[in-house]
Amino acid sequence: MLKSLPPLKATPLKDKLSKQGISRREFMKWTASMTTLLALPIQFSPLLAEAAEVADRVPLIWLHLAECTGCSESLIRCDTPTIDTLLFDHISLEYHETLMAAAGWQAEENLEHAMETYPGGYLLAVEGGVPTADNGKYLTVGCKGHTGLHIVKEAADKAAAIVSVGTCASFGGVQAAAPNPTGTKGVGQVVGKPVINLGGCPPSEKNIVGTLMYYIMFGRLPALDMYNRPKWAYGARVHDNCERRGRFDAGEFVETFGDEGAKQGYCLYKVGCKGPYTYNNCPTERFNHHTSWPVLAGHGCIGCSEPSFWDAMADFEKPLGRRDLHSLDATADRIGAVALGVTAVGIGAHAVASVFANKEDNS
Ligand code: SF4
Ligand code: SF4
Repeated sequence: MLKSLPPLKATPLKDKLSKQGISRREFMKWTASMTTLLALPIQFSPLLAEAAEVADRVPLIWLHLAECTGCSESLIRCDTPTIDTLLFDHISLEYHETLMAAAGWQAEENLEHAMETYPGGYLLAVEGGVPTADNGKYLTVGCKGHTGLHIVKEAADKAAAIVSVGTCASFGGVQAAAPNPTGTKGVGQVVGKPVINLGGCPPSEKNIVGTLMYYIMFGRLPALDMYNRPKWAYGARVHDNCERRGRFDAGEFVETFGDEGAKQGYCLYKVGCKGPYTYNNCPTERFNHHTSWPVLAGHGCIGCSEPSFWDAMADFEKPLGRRDLHSLDATADRIGAVALGVTAVGIGAHAVASVFANKEDNS
């Protein structure tokens, strides 16, 4: 259905790819690997290619609240753009404080224009937690001085679907760490609508772009875990896919950073690795063009994709202890039992197309 709509961006995806020296063959390889990542049968690969090409029909509003902009930075700061970063750029980014050229009143107008033009049809991505204490006054954005709380509620009201990008937007992040004087919360706790959480500090570009692609293809949220994270990305513990897992099972541990065990690639549990408590696909997807991830680089996972990890996982270079490990294993079983399943939210092709249809009827 999206195919019949006019693109909101001028440059077709194939031109963008060829400008970056990415061949059609490489693109098809990417669609195959993204299809596998999304836990879909490989027959969905051509559909994914089609969804990527028509992503320029989907309006995206990206808000920044209480955060460091690290999630955006991680997505866009590549010396060589990947297909994931090019696709992010290809989706029609209507408002993004870091990337748009507009400033001041013009920026405010862009946001209002996007919300008015595509009511019920735009994707809303939020980066950052929402300060709620004293009616949200600890965060104001833009020349009108609206609070982040006001802005996110207004934008969420008419969004077809909402994605919290990163741990701050998902669960409050470092702003929500004790004693949390600003009363910061995750987006899902303030907007009263279903929100998909992409935990991580930052989340990988694959998890961001894969989630957007899933929406565009199916018009609904993917299966989610008990914290509303997509199961295709957060369904396994870091520990389960870690290349040092054999060392853990063999009882071979780094005792202090820089010791002989560290040189041999032993398990980092005793120097604080929280991989056994953390659900994310870092070991399989890695970062920076799939080159590395923290444990491969020699430091333990700090559990950045889990709620309250600043409080719950500290001290980051000391183990939590076996008792917690066992209780976490019990949590793993619960996650399977209470998984939310696929939730229809009326997004993607249907939602966007109906907005365009209304626009045409009214014009
Ligand atoms: S390094 Fe961490 S994630 Fe890897 S096996 Fe050891 S405890 Fe598990
Ligand atoms: S390895 Fe752990 S701390 Fe590092 S990004 Fe992945 S989940 Fe976060």
